Amino acid sequence: TTGIETFEFQVEARQLLQLMIHSIYSNKDVFLRELVSNASDALDKLRLESLRDGNLEADTSDLHIAIEVDKEQRTLTVRDNGIGMSHDEVVQLIGTIANSGTAKFLQELKESKDAAASQDLIGQFGVGFYSSFMVADEVTLLTRRAGESQGTRWESSGEGTYSIAPADDAPQGTAVTLRLKPEDTEDALYDYASPRKVREIVKRYSDFITWPIRMAAEAPAKPAADSEEAGDDSAEEAAAPEVETVNSMKALWARSKDEVTDDEYHEFYKHISHDWSNPLETIRMQAEGTFEYQSLLFIPSRAPQDLYMRDHKRGVQLYVKRVFIMDDCEALMPEYLRFVKGVVDAADLSLNVSREALQQDRQIQLMRRRLVKKVLSTVKDTMSGAPERYTTFWKEFGPVLKEGLLGDFENREAILDLCSFATTRDAEEPTTLRQYVERMKEGQEHLYFMTGESRSMVESSPHMEAFREKGFEVLVLTDPIDELWVDAVPEFDGKPLRSIAKGQVDLDTDGEKDEETEAERERQKQDYADLLSWMTTTLSDSVKEVRLSSRLTTSPACIVGDTHDASPQLQNIYKAMGQ
Ligand code: ADP
Ligand code: MG
Repeated sequence: TTGIETFEFQVEARQLLQLMIHSIYSNKDVFLRELVSNASDALDKLRLESLRDGNLEADTSDLHIAIEVDKEQRTLTVRDNGIGMSHDEVVQLIGTIANSGTAKFLQELKESKDAAASQDLIGQFGVGFYSSFMVADEVTLLTRRAGESQGTRWESSGEGTYSIAPADDAPQGTAVTLRLKPEDTEDALYDYASPRKVREIVKRYSDFITWPIRMAAEAPAKPAADSEEAGDDSAEEAAAPEVETVNSMKALWARSKDEVTDDEYHEFYKHISHDWSNPLETIRMQAEGTFEYQSLLFIPSRAPQDLYMRDHKRGVQLYVKRVFIMDDCEALMPEYLRFVKGVVDAADLSLNVSREALQQDRQIQLMRRRLVKKVLSTVKDTMSGAPERYTTFWKEFGPVLKEGLLGDFENREAILDLCSFATTRDAEEPTTLRQYVERMKEGQEHLYFMTGESRSMVESSPHMEAFREKGFEVLVLTDPIDELWVDAVPEFDGKPLRSIAKGQVDLDTDGEKDEETEAERERQKQDYADLLSWMTTTLSDSVKEVRLSSRLTTSPACIVGDTHDASPQLQNIYKAMGQ
């Protein structure tokens, strides 16, 4: 009759919960950041939904977050009056783990034998709501979706199952109540039933949240001299405690640069990106004048698991005068910079602006151009100023950035300048195109490259023989995207790019052409003319032409493509795409 249903957690969820219960994070305080972050998201969603849907029956008059601690009961509650969840949403959002990276993370964790490495892995992995189980032995979530009348109560001790029941008394929004582990309450460091401790954590991790986070006011210091009357007053205050807003609510991007600490930027990044690591770069930009905007962008320190999936979203949020408008704003960042996270706050846009309208908006297009240039110039600065950070950047995002060589003509040179490539010169050390050009041999006119699936495949290719023999450096391009951009980019710094596996690459034109070799070549052509024409006819189903080559030193023959043919790897890509 109570309508209680019991569900099992999905396997991955169960494994993660076990990790949480056994407190794998060295810093347990972050559970509160996760709960507050979810509450803040829920308020953003409600405001947006009520803006879009005039018929939504929701109360948006006093949107806020409230945190309550009960020392006696050893409970901590984080409450919001935001969007809430329906019964099905609770099952779906709380009972399972949607993040596809989770399984991979768990696998890596299992395989990692070394404790420090495990801790590092764990530190990078966000577990959101489940982090409650680091500090609680039981979690209750009471929620009602805005506009719906039926509420839902979710309960679990994190040990494999959870229960769900209808709740008639649920206010709009969500309240998460943690029954704190008794052992933590005894340790001041982990005493999350202490208002002071909680206030401290909120200030530290969630100060920038743009919604008020309210808590009962600290009891006023006892008046020094007074007698019994004062005692009565404080008894009354205890009965109806005043509430106060704990966070400053100041949007970080609207504060002046030197007023904000790196720590604050990092916490903000974690809030918007759902990443647990610090960002690699923080980028601030402000424009005044006719079209005013402020932006705070971040380059993450590692690529998310789904960066190459077709439906990967772009990571910039749009605000209008501090009001959150949308996530994943594709009008603000090109696809090849989809890893950039952050916020753009524009002053003169309608709160109701649609995605389609944004794409057409000239001001937005201008803004996007400036943001893109700023991101690229930031990477450039990293390259010269912090080579190690650049190496990380390139390892994580290089292949995505190279996608920009295909479509962004305006910034092509700038992107090429940021690329680094493996080269035959040194197996360990990659090169930039500029460095390559500086090393080009006297008389060398082209930048040579070869694409392939792996470095070893490229290096053992017969095409490589003559180049190695003559000491020409060849770029070794093994990312799938390389197949595409090399066809789109004709030159760098006025020097043509040339595949060593295509067309007639006559190395003698590069430097050492002389009449003697020229005459020798002619003689050979005549000597072999019959053989070549016989081979061309015999193999006519498979090849266009058979010709003598000077590019081989030990292999007897090799297959080359025409200059404008798709390389074998590109043909494979097309095949895979069904073309
Ligand atoms: P994330 O926030 O990264 O999506 P979480 O584990 O923190 O992951 O939360 C999972 C999902 O549960 C959220 O995406 C959201 O849909 C839902 N959720 C969590 N807390 C709330 C809340 N207070 N109000 C509404 N929905 C919530
Ligand atoms: Mg979350």
